[in-house]
Amino acid sequence: MDLTSYAELAVLLVNRGDELRGLTELRELLDETGRRESAARVTRRDLDALRELREELAGVFQAAAEGDEDDVVERLNGLLVRHPVHPQISGHDGQRWHMHLTEGGRVADALAVGSVMGLASVVTGLGVDRLGICQASPCRNAYLDTSSNRSRRYCSERCASRANVAAYRARKRGA
Ligand SMILES: [Zn+2]
Ligand SMILES: [Zn+2]
Repeated sequence: MDLTSYAELAVLLVNRGDELRGLTELRELLDETGRRESAARVTRRDLDALRELREELAGVFQAAAEGDEDDVVERLNGLLVRHPVHPQISGHDGQRWHMHLTEGGRVADALAVGSVMGLASVVTGLGVDRLGICQASPCRNAYLDTSSNRSRRYCSERCASRANVAAYRARKRGA
């Protein structure tokens, strides 16, 4: 069970706020990220719950970006209480028996459990400093730093090159 991939779900929910505007957009997002079964049964209540979850996950990344580790842990512990895990052993598609964390229940609950457990596992296994907020202003996207030297500062290649260009221009103006 790769919990880091679950943490990517948290990043996705934080960064794709536009897709949480309506049910159609949410269905497309779930479909596009290989969650076809969830896309088919997602409801208005799931949408409301996911919007709320998104705010809370964004708060976790914000606290991490500010280096406030106690706050990160407090927020995650609060989320873990509200979204308890009900693990199930599963076997499908010719795979060995393996654990599923997010079986059954409502779509929003399953996504919440996955993303919260994913972040909790990154924080405990790799460190709070693996969670960050893109530093290419005005972008406020969340990212997961899985680089070996913890050097990540931007959400994407696009933001990294935008920041580089801005820094270059600033240097030229200063020269
Ligand atoms: Zn499976
Ligand atoms: Zn960015």
